[in-house]
Amino acid sequence: MAKADFLEAQKLKLNSRLQEAERLIRSEATVESLRQSKTLQIRRIKTAIQTIEKTPRAYGYCARCEEPVPRKRLIAIPEATHCLECQERMEVSIKDRLNFAEAAVSAALSIEVLEEARVATEC
Ligand SMILES: [Zn+2]
Repeated sequence: MAKADFLEAQKLKLNSRLQEAERLIRSEATVESLRQSKTLQIRRIKTAIQTIEKTPRAYGYCARCEEPVPRKRLIAIPEATHCLECQERMEVSIKDRLNFAEAAVSAALSIEVLEEARVATEC
């Protein structure tokens, strides 16, 4: 497929994904987390459309390692901003941060419990 045809096909796909995401975001039944995730997706889709329109040569490069995102991935997810490897690394890092936050909260709770116990024994 020629580059221009590919970009045109990607733009069509992005526009249909944009409509679908915008339709979902208006639905009252849509839960808040889906709403948020679709909001992020819309931002990525709009950015991808803008990139194709304004700087087509920049479309399809990973935002982290700057290597080309494999075409297979772009066909599956035209608004992908990262290669699979970087995407997975970021997801692991988010999980690590969540685990760290959880550990910090439980440590803070233990301190609170110890403090309450100390106050209780003093009274
Ligand atoms: Zn990458």
